[in-house]
Order: sequence, then C-alpha cells, then structure tokens
Amino acid sequence: MIIDAHIHTTGRECARDVLDALDAAGIERGVLLAPFLSEGYSLDDADSLRRGNAHLATLVAGHADRLAGLAVVDPRDPAAPADLRHAIETLGLTGAKMVPTGWFPYEDRVQPVFAVASELRLPVLFHSGIFIDGRSGRFCRPVFFEVLREHPGVRVTLAHLGWPWTDEAIAVGLIDRIHGIAPERVTFRFDLSFGAPPPCRRETLARALEVLGPELLQFGSDCFTPCPGSEFAERLGWLLALLDELGVHGAARHSVLCGTAANWLAPCADVPARQARAA
Ligand SMILES: [Zn+2]
Repeated sequence: MIIDAHIHTTGRECARDVLDALDAAGIERGVLLAPFLSEGYSLDDADSLRRGNAHLATLVAGHADRLAGLAVVDPRDPAAPADLRHAIETLGLTGAKMVPTGWFPYEDRVQPVFAVASELRLPVLFHSGIFIDGRSGRFCRPVFFEVLREHPGVRVTLAHLGWPWTDEAIAVGLIDRIHGIAPERVTFRFDLSFGAPPPCRRETLARALEVLGPELLQFGSDCFTPCPGSEFAERLGWLLALLDELGVHGAARHSVLCGTAANWLAPCADVPARQARAA
C-alpha cells in the first residue's frame, strides 16, 4: 500500500478526478490539503479558507477509505480556532495544514489554534523550509516548531524535511528518539516532498534515514489536483529510485511508503491530549 501524505487541491477538482489519478499511479490513499494557493483562495483571506475547507469536505465525503482532508487555517485570525474545530467536528475533516508566513510558530497569538489541535488530537502538517515561490522562508525554520511539544496529542509532520535546514529538522525529530519514544507516538515526523533540489536529495534522504529511521519519514508528492496520474507516478518514481539506490527495502520501505503516514493519521488511543474545554 502507498499513501501520498501531501496533495494540494485547487478548488477545481472533483473526487473522481483525484481517485482516478491516484489509481493510475498505484496510490491507495491520499492526504488532501484544502486550497490556499490557487485562484480565488488565499492564506490572507479567512473567508476563502473557509470556502476551501468546505470544498475539501465535499471531496473527501464518502471516501474515508481513500482520502483524508486537512483543513487550512490562518492562526493569526482570531476565528481560526473555531474554524478548525468546525472543520473537524462539523465538516468531517481529519486534521490541519498550516503555513507560517507572517507569523512564527512560537508566537503567543497562534497558540490557541494549536490548543484546539491538541484537544482534538489532530495530525497537523506544516510547511517547513524555504518557499520556492519567492516568499520568505524565515518563518519556517524547523526549530521554531519545537513549541508544538507543549501541545500534547498533536502529531506534527514537517514538510520537505525542512530543506535547506535538514540537519535542523533531523535534530528536532531526533529528540523523541533519544528519549526512546516509539515512532507512532513521536511529536515530529517528516514528509519527503522535495524540497531539496535533485543534486541534494540522495544525501539528504540517506542522512534522514540513518539518523531518524524510516519510521519518521513519509512520502508526499506535493502534486496539485486535478492532474493526471502520471504526475503522481513521476514524483513517486523519484522517491522509489532513491530508495532503490540506498537499498531501502522490506519493512523500511513499507514505513516510508505508508506505515509512517498511517500512524500519523490514526491517533494512539493512550496518548494524552489537553483536557477538553470546561463546559
Ligand atoms: Zn505543498
């Protein structure tokens, strides 16, 4: 089984488009992000994000076996905690995607959203590392996400292995391993959507595999739907070729292609979360 843990929607796709493309690429499950980069949607426009989350909810409805949806919220917006709760409890989405741009993850003003994610024990995907569209990546250094440790129950994935700050990302991820925490219970895991340009990929992946282990790494295509299955297949192929080169087979390969993401999406029953709000 293969899980693609990082797929962008644009607001222009239907569920059939997505499922057909995943089928063509041999990908069983996809983690879809609500639209925020395509026309009509913006991280600076909370109404557009609400519309995007509603669109995503219609996409994934009835396809829980194949598709999981991550709501996008802007933590600077005072309504973001309520929007996130609504996306999970009413719209039926699974978790959240957030992009630090104009805010740092350790700022007091953004902690209320993380508190909701903790209470609801959500998987949360963060952009980490440089942006390729020219926005400043200075908000997205891996070490800035350490504050998520103060929100137990949140299961964080840092995208792109934090490139170019991959050693920093690995260090953030290593702490739980040093303390002997099982891979399915760690705060941080990392997606292998690139991120690193081709000349850097092999070395980056090899180091992450060696230090963190495959149980903290997961495949993500970073494709934008609607797109043909060949795009998913091409990006999956980049990773498969590297895994072949590095001799990653068997259980380790299984972790990278689906096991890590499956653990991320499904909470461990006995991981404590923040106390629910007083009634
Ligand atoms: Zn992305």
